[in-house]
Amino acid sequence: MDIETCIKKLGYVGVLDFATVDENGAPQVRNISAIHYEGTTLCFLTARGKTFARQLKADGRVQILGYTKYKETIRLSGRAVEVPANEQLKWRNVLYQEQPYLENVYPGETKNIDTIFMLQDYTIEYFCLSTRPITREYFTVGNAEPIRKGYYISEDCIGCGTCQTVCPQNCIEAGSPFCIKENHCLQCGNCFENCPVEAIRRY
Ligand code: SF4
Ligand code: SF4
Repeated sequence: MDIETCIKKLGYVGVLDFATVDENGAPQVRNISAIHYEGTTLCFLTARGKTFARQLKADGRVQILGYTKYKETIRLSGRAVEVPANEQLKWRNVLYQEQPYLENVYPGETKNIDTIFMLQDYTIEYFCLSTRPITREYFTVGNAEPIRKGYYISEDCIGCGTCQTVCPQNCIEAGSPFCIKENHCLQCGNCFENCPVEAIRRY
């Protein structure tokens, strides 16, 4: 997997889930289809008065999730910024051209209430459940901080092998210490719960 293919797959999914946080820190999620892909940059449209736009302006954090028919989850995490005023019209025209249904939603001059946001610096989590073992990969676009998630085995490992016997994906290699193959790990925590000497740590 690679960044460009992840973005392409999201384009094929078409309608993506966009999650933000509200002023109380509660999650808020909605479907968005008015998305334009420009390389690795995503531009998306909403109306200035919508809660979504207000949350993006106030906080900026957004997670975007798509799920393909091949049981692939692709999650982008980053901060969306409102496109500068002098570029709004350009991006709006692109989006209306690609998605003619928008004219039905905001006909004529009513489309002036629209605003475009852009996501440029973000991480990508790719997770596929249709391979055996499962596949997990992380990518970074722009200046986003790399992701560290899941579990690793520390030097405290005594080599008893218990973790291998409880791993549903057989993704732990023997060694000194034993080692989790993170690209195939479910992050289920079964090894972590069963290690007799607590040698397995969470990132
Ligand atoms: S269960 Fe713990 S001590 Fe045993 S091999 Fe796995 S990590 Fe090492
Ligand atoms: S977290 Fe689950 S899948 Fe990952 S190594 Fe441990 S037992 Fe295996």
